[in-house]
Amino acid sequence: MIVEPRIRGFICTTAHPTGCKANVESQIEYVRAQGPVSDGEFKNVLVLGCSGGYGLACRVVSAFGCGANTLGVSFEKQPTETKTATAGWYNNVAFEEAAATAGLYAKTLDGDAFADEMRARVIDTIKADLGKIDLVVYSLASPVRQHPKTGELHRSAIKPLGQTLHIKSVNVDKGEVTEVDLDGATEQETADTVAVMGGEDWEFWMEALLDADVLADGCQTVAFTYIGTELTWPIYWEGTLGQAKLDLDRASRAIDEKLSAVSGSARVAVLKAIVSQASSAIPVVPLYVALLFKVMKEQGIHEDIISHIHRLFATQLKAGSQLRLDEDGRIRMDDMELSDPVQDEVQRRWPLVDSANLAELGDLAGYREDFLKIFGFGFAGVDYEADVDPTLGRTL
Ligand code: NAD
Repeated sequence: MIVEPRIRGFICTTAHPTGCKANVESQIEYVRAQGPVSDGEFKNVLVLGCSGGYGLACRVVSAFGCGANTLGVSFEKQPTETKTATAGWYNNVAFEEAAATAGLYAKTLDGDAFADEMRARVIDTIKADLGKIDLVVYSLASPVRQHPKTGELHRSAIKPLGQTLHIKSVNVDKGEVTEVDLDGATEQETADTVAVMGGEDWEFWMEALLDADVLADGCQTVAFTYIGTELTWPIYWEGTLGQAKLDLDRASRAIDEKLSAVSGSARVAVLKAIVSQASSAIPVVPLYVALLFKVMKEQGIHEDIISHIHRLFATQLKAGSQLRLDEDGRIRMDDMELSDPVQDEVQRRWPLVDSANLAELGDLAGYREDFLKIFGFGFAGVDYEADVDPTLGRTL
């Protein structure tokens, strides 16, 4: 079939198999070009949320920068004869193929990472194939979580706290800058968002791995957060998601204490805003990202997903790194995004931006390009007119 992008709101319902492969390969190429990242301290890495966004980049740097065996967990849809898989499914296939070619172990378990069954499968796989894990990357982003103990289905709500918020946003499809009203979250919606995107599941994972004795001495674990600036605070840091991320900070401290049993450590890393499936669902953020990208590109300090994660590993995670921590013990990777020259310019443009000048003040084209690339569209060298088999010739 000929695969074209089919965009519905903030998701694309198709993914291009060859394009997704090109995406993974370009990340691998970038990492290889930088040279080795670590001195062999990351032998076995577990990535929860390995198939896209920041998790995929962590897996690529672990394998191709650190020479690590990687075990990944993701929740993706398989293809059929007539329907493409989700992008993450193709990314996993492409990653595993590239790892095999490089002689690196890579296995992906697809299913619900919030379920205890998945924890058991991962532990069995580690025991059978790897022995012990040196680094656990927790990079899940999901709208729902079925609680493994209560069976309750929690749905996150990306909302401000308190009263209705009247704020500038952008309709990415139409390129229109609009003002939107976002209702404040109820207490239940806030609690549900914390249940989905907070730190409890990360704690469950680390407790299970510790109890099963599959964490190596000095094992590190890292989870990701976003803080941003006053432009996005009302919808993010001061909203339901911010409450969830505060809970991630709480979990980080609790896990860090428990990991003392293996002389290990847990940290939250504050990453920069990028275009991902998860972030495109957050109102206001695409407009902020469009302005941010334009300004960072103009100032020559723009980082994409892979260069950002490469810097995380090379300057903060590898042994002997001089940690750049804030007063709450988080690793700050958003230093360039939050630098005065960048933020002063983004703040100056924010009240001025409208539909007519968006292309001049912001990088909506870059935003759209990055969005399509998540689904494998827009890669040079990929023949998008060619007939492709969505199953990649596999019997599923
Ligand atoms: P993403 O949507 O690109 O990837 C999410 C991953 O989670 C995918 O691999 C998906 O398969 C997996 N997943 C989702 N539900 C699952 C489930 N039930 N079981 C197993 N796997 C599941 O997300 P992302 O933007 O890379 O976000 C990852 C983390 O980084 C999140 O904590 C997010 O808050 C944080 N972060 C993102 C940004 C940003 O701008 N995107 C900025 C800073 C921090």
